[in-house]
Amino acid sequence: MSRLVMKFGGTSVADLERIRRVARLVAAEVAAGHKVAVVVSAMSGKTNELVAWTDDAGPSAPGLPAHDDEYDVVVASGEQVTAGLLAIALRKIGVDARSWLGWQIPIISDHAHGRARIDDIPGEALAASVDGGQVAVIAGFQGVTPEGRITTLGRGGSDTSAVAVAAALKAIRCDIYTDVDGVYTTDPRIEDKARRIKKISYEEMLEMASLGAKVLQTRSVELAMAQRVPVRVLSSFVEPGEADPDTGTLVCDEEEIVEKRIVSGVAYSRDEAKITLLGLPDHPGVSSRIFSALADANVNVDMIVQSRSKDSSVANMDFTVGKRDAAKALEIMNAAKAEIGFEEAKVDEDVSKVSVIGVGMKSHVGVARTMFTALAGKGVNIQAISTSEIKISVLIPSAYTELAVRALHAAYGLDQ
Ligand code: ADP
Ligand code: ASP
Ligand code: MG
Repeated sequence: MSRLVMKFGGTSVADLERIRRVARLVAAEVAAGHKVAVVVSAMSGKTNELVAWTDDAGPSAPGLPAHDDEYDVVVASGEQVTAGLLAIALRKIGVDARSWLGWQIPIISDHAHGRARIDDIPGEALAASVDGGQVAVIAGFQGVTPEGRITTLGRGGSDTSAVAVAAALKAIRCDIYTDVDGVYTTDPRIEDKARRIKKISYEEMLEMASLGAKVLQTRSVELAMAQRVPVRVLSSFVEPGEADPDTGTLVCDEEEIVEKRIVSGVAYSRDEAKITLLGLPDHPGVSSRIFSALADANVNVDMIVQSRSKDSSVANMDFTVGKRDAAKALEIMNAAKAEIGFEEAKVDEDVSKVSVIGVGMKSHVGVARTMFTALAGKGVNIQAISTSEIKISVLIPSAYTELAVRALHAAYGLDQ
């Protein structure tokens, strides 16, 4: 008896017609002998609408708590609707099914409302129900604190719900159905020469996701890697039995991959903002003060570049933060201006990060040269660079994002 987890994202459950098709895909796996748990997202657009309502309704009056906890109560509701509808659609075609909300399983999380982490899934009741032959239709994205308050797992969090449930159920695999038929060498929406990757290592997928390829939420890949859950990404826009048996992308251990490339993919993120501090005193302890102030306020810093002109005794520093932290970071810097001692702080939100990823970089030279030569050839100016063993990222003006992605895709021989 093998348990299987299937996850369907927002576009896959966008209306009743699509929910019926999802029901047919689930029914086919049940007929093939699997014990199935399905994780669903809200219908596409629903979560954005709910988020906008909470923004409109808030903020809290001074002296009262911020409304992050109630944000989760509202925003988690989209998934409840699809879980119920899919259970109904399954029963209609003769498949026994029931919905499970996050708190009913329960999917226990920490207290970080809006971006909670799963701590534990006591999955006995769920496993017993699934093994008894009733398909479990689980509302993704939802958690619950030990005190019983609703949480959500961050945007795109249903992927993480699915992998966590797969780990808790010791499922043979977690199938992530979405609106593309796999993980591509870059976002197929901006490069039509992108190719499907048949197998990708956890390590590379983790970098791709955290550098902007939103096909899988970063935490879902972290969790899959830690728990060794095989993940397959595939299209929900096919009827059962119609898909090519070789379809999709398998996210798995590096050892399982025969065909190895130096660069496997190109990712981009527009969710960046650059903060520049001008006229910094150039002596020990300054950087420590800057980054301690940001860390104390929970602001995550990504790239950092310090520069000093030849004859100057002062330095300049650029660093990047997520767009939604930009205003906060600027405020923190200005509040600490006297203590740090810089002359001026400014923010630039018109920047993007473009990255190339590949485990082959560990053992090949010249990867950076190819990147910089390709970008120079298109006249793209690089504002900051960061590297790890398996990726190189550059910060560029956001107007050049597509151009840079396409140039790099071609330069590394990834075009079809
Ligand atoms: P879902 O609603 O199913 O969770 P998402 O919109 O979150 O789907 O993720 C799928 C989208 O991810 C695709 O439509 C595609 O535009 C985007 N994407 C970005 N980078 C990649 C990539 N390298 N491979 C595949 N899809 C990608
Ligand atoms: N519905 C949530 C979102 O839009 C979770 C998800 O789709 O994974 O972020
Ligand atoms: Mg998603």
